[in-house]
Amino acid sequence: MLLKELEILGFKSFADKIKVSFSTSVSAVVGPNGCGKSNILDSLKWVLGEKSVKTMRGEKMEDVIFAGTSTRKPANFAQVSLTFDNRLRLLKIDTDDVKVGRRLYRDGQSQYFINDSRVALKEIEDLFRDTGIGKSSYSFMEQGRMDQILSSKPEDRRLIFEEAAGVSRFKAQREEAEKNLENTQLNLTRIQDIQRELE
Ligand code: ATP
Repeated sequence: MLLKELEILGFKSFADKIKVSFSTSVSAVVGPNGCGKSNILDSLKWVLGEKSVKTMRGEKMEDVIFAGTSTRKPANFAQVSLTFDNRLRLLKIDTDDVKVGRRLYRDGQSQYFINDSRVALKEIEDLFRDTGIGKSSYSFMEQGRMDQILSSKPEDRRLIFEEAAGVSRFKAQREEAEKNLENTQLNLTRIQDIQRELE
């Protein structure tokens, strides 16, 4: 699924509205130190519901709102939206483009949007469930992550691929089922012992 456009206003270092268009399935953000590359990535995770202040590299969530400079007033709110190409209807909404947005005011009031209508965060999470897109998915990679993947041991790299392919979820389910089976087996043996004692 193609991310067509990112729109940012008042988020971190981006005081003015910026629009970034993506036309290829893989895009990279490059630029000099401190120009805002990580802020772009933060904005993508944030709009998809990132709640961890630490992940957003701040001390409180309001730190994502443009803090002002010697010549500019701080912003009152931060707003980010993403527009996805949904012609293949991979997202269960019947529109060719799907726009998701998030806005945060300084008083802590947070709002989420799908195609400009107010929604709860859960609706955004439900929309992207099992699509491979999410705040902690492999669709967005921060600086250093590629290096980490390329230099990791083959066994560790396999785990990353399994997680990206959604296999790890099934592995976890299998492990849980095996544990339940083992417990049931133990219970059965105990019941058989009691039965034998009573006979
Ligand atoms: P590097 O390559 O060095 O990691 P980068 O391009 O990833 O840098 P970012 O970390 O995205 O850069 O941006 C850092 C800049 O964003 C800093 O100048 C910082 O002051 C600014 N910044 C972060 N939060 C805010 C905010 N709330 N208001 C204004 N500026 C902010």
